[in-house]
Amino acid sequence: MNPLRSLILAAAGNDAVRRAVATAPVSREVVRRFVAGETVASALDVTGDLVENGLRVTLDYLGEDTTDRGLAERTVQSYLTLLDQLHDTGLAVDAEVSVKLSAVGQSLDERLALDNASRICAAAEQGGTTVTLDMEDHTTTDSTLRVLAELHRSWPSTGAVLQAYLRRTLDDCRALAGSRVRLCKGAYAEPASVAHTDPHEVDLNYVRCANVLLSGSGYPMFATHDPRLIEIVAERARWHDKAPEDFEYQMLYGVRPSEQARLTAEGHVVRVYVPFGEQWYGYLMRRLAERPANVAFFLRSLAGR
Ligand code: FAD
Repeated sequence: MNPLRSLILAAAGNDAVRRAVATAPVSREVVRRFVAGETVASALDVTGDLVENGLRVTLDYLGEDTTDRGLAERTVQSYLTLLDQLHDTGLAVDAEVSVKLSAVGQSLDERLALDNASRICAAAEQGGTTVTLDMEDHTTTDSTLRVLAELHRSWPSTGAVLQAYLRRTLDDCRALAGSRVRLCKGAYAEPASVAHTDPHEVDLNYVRCANVLLSGSGYPMFATHDPRLIEIVAERARWHDKAPEDFEYQMLYGVRPSEQARLTAEGHVVRVYVPFGEQWYGYLMRRLAERPANVAFFLRSLAGR
C-alpha cells in the first residue's frame, strides 16, 4: 500500500489527530464536500436534490466500532427515524440505507448486531425500501456474512458488500451471485496475507468478480469511480446480455459528480452513497487516503486557503 495512504489510515485511528481535525474551525467546510450534514433533515435535502437529477441514493448514518450499547441503540433509532421520513417524503422509492454492523453492536455481540440490523430491515421493508450491509475490515467479514445469511431468511433483498482486494472475495461472489451485491475495491489497510496489495491485482480481481456477479441471477452494484472499471463493467454487462436496469453503478457523494450525471444520461442506474451524521471522522480519513489530491484540498482548507 502506498505510504501516504497507510499514514492517513493510521491517523484515522489516532485520538490526538482525531481531536485536532474535529476541532479545526475549517474542518466542517471540507467535510461538507463528502458528508451531507449532521442531521436527518440535511440528508433528506441532499437526497431530494440527487433524486431530482435522476440518481438513486443509499444513505449511511455515520458511526463505526461502537463499544457502547447506548450508542448502538441511538444509531438504530436514527435509522428508524430516517426510514420513516424516507417513506413519508416519497423518497423511499429511490433511496435505501447502508448500515455498518460495527455501528449497531457487532464488536460487543454478534447477536445484538443481528437483532439491531433486523429492526432496521423490518422498518425498511415497511417503508418500501431496502438495506445494504457495508463491509468493514477483514476481521469482521465472516461475522458480517453470517449476519447477512440470517437476514436473508426474512429479507432476501438485503444487500451485501464484497471487497475485490480480499483474496477470498471471488469465492464469496460465487456464493452470493444470486443476491444484491455491491462490489467495491475495499477501503481498509489490510495485510498481504488476506488482501492483494498491488492495485493492478485488485483491479484484475474486481473484473473477475464482476464477471461472476454478472453471470449470476442477482443484482450487481458496481461501486467504483475508476474510469477503466466502469468501462469494463459496461462491456461485460453487454456480453452477459444485461439490460441497464439489471445492474447499477454506485459512487460516493462528492466524488466524480459529473461522471454520475454522464452515466445517468446514458441510461444507466447510478446510486450515490450519501453519508450523514456527527461521526464523520473515520469516513473522511478513508476518502482522503484514497486520493492525494483530496489531502492537498484538506490541508489547504486547514491552512485557511
Ligand atoms: P480508485 O482506484 O481508488 O480510484 C479511481 C479514480 O476514481 C481515481 O483515480 C479518481 O479519479 C477517482 N476517485 C476515487 N476516490 C476518490 C475520492 N475519494 N475523491 C476523488 N476522486 C476519487 N469500501 C469498503 O471497504 N466497504 C464498503 O462497504 C464500501 N462501500 C462503498 C460504497 C460505494 C457506493 C463506493 C463508491 C465505495 C465504497 N467503498 C467501500 C470504498 C471502496 O472500497 C474504495 O475505497 C473507493 O471507492 C475508491 O476506489 P475506486 O474503485 O473508486 O478506485
